[in-house]
Amino acid sequence: MDSTPTPEAWNEAEGFLRRARRILAITHVNPDGDAIGSLLGFTLALRSIGRSVTPAVQDRAHDRFEYVPGFFEIKNTGEGDFDLIVSLDASDLQRLGNIFLPAVHAQVPMLVIDHHVTNTRFGAANLVDPTKASTAEIIAQLIRRMNIPLTAPVATALLTGLVTDTLAFRTTNTTPDTLACAQELMSAGANLVEVVRKALVLQPFERMKFQAAGVLETKIEDGVAYAKIPRKLRKETGFSEERGDGGLVGTLITADTAKLAAVFVELHDGRIEIGFRASPGYDVSRIALELGGGGHPAAAGCTIAGPMRDAVNRVLPRLKEEAQHR
Ligand code: 5GP
Ligand code: MN
Repeated sequence: MDSTPTPEAWNEAEGFLRRARRILAITHVNPDGDAIGSLLGFTLALRSIGRSVTPAVQDRAHDRFEYVPGFFEIKNTGEGDFDLIVSLDASDLQRLGNIFLPAVHAQVPMLVIDHHVTNTRFGAANLVDPTKASTAEIIAQLIRRMNIPLTAPVATALLTGLVTDTLAFRTTNTTPDTLACAQELMSAGANLVEVVRKALVLQPFERMKFQAAGVLETKIEDGVAYAKIPRKLRKETGFSEERGDGGLVGTLITADTAKLAAVFVELHDGRIEIGFRASPGYDVSRIALELGGGGHPAAAGCTIAGPMRDAVNRVLPRLKEEAQHR
């Protein structure tokens, strides 16, 4: 269902937020720029109209997002006394990881705000808009509708989400509305150049070495660029991040012969985390969903059982099949 929320969905979401007093705001594991930007933009905005808001996420956010206002207030537990939970940028309940505490939180109403086409509508109210490039743009729209002042700190947080999920306006989900929203955020005081540089461009040299080593492991077969990343590659290149592909899959999809790209990352528990990217006209969200994950047509992911060889044998044929379409 690729459409904007109904007026009823908006009214319901705003009703939840107007009635709430103590909000727990949460986002997905291994948070990216849209997760952190939406989480903190929402938190600061709702605080400015007198709500108590606690932002929380399972995994430590990347240092690169330290400049986002409110960054150091993010908690890594969802414990506390709340009358509303707001889930941001997460397409399903599993994606929240252990920040969602079923025994405690199942009694509290949840509002889901998200832009993934694979969203499972797991809230009591769901504000899901897959036409938006980022969850941050939905928060910007909410702020407009609720007449909440758009301050420079809120704008900086939201522009971080918008810029990271569009790779600075380069992805197929970038629309005239996306640009209009960016303009509004800049006018409110967000610094585009600084956000792009800090959130997207600068990276540790070790991450570059990890990516370079990953590129050397990459094969391109039948339009599918794919790399297998064993645990030891992290140590060998001095790359300190515990999980993820260090941006490798985003690099692989820039190979001009790649219609699809996939990076298979071995986790410490032996499971395999897979990141997918698709060129315009191809769709990896369906494949990720079939494998228990989710995402967008152009960028998706999942985590499946290992070992590496079995994971690749299971997924690669499916990717090659998708690469034939069109
Ligand atoms: P990335 O490759 O940047 O980690 O992930 C790209 C996109 O895929 C994310 O923005 C997210 O929407 C989605 N994604 C990645 N991993 C998972 C997963 O395990 N579950 C779900 N539901 N979505 C995922
Ligand atoms: Mn997002």
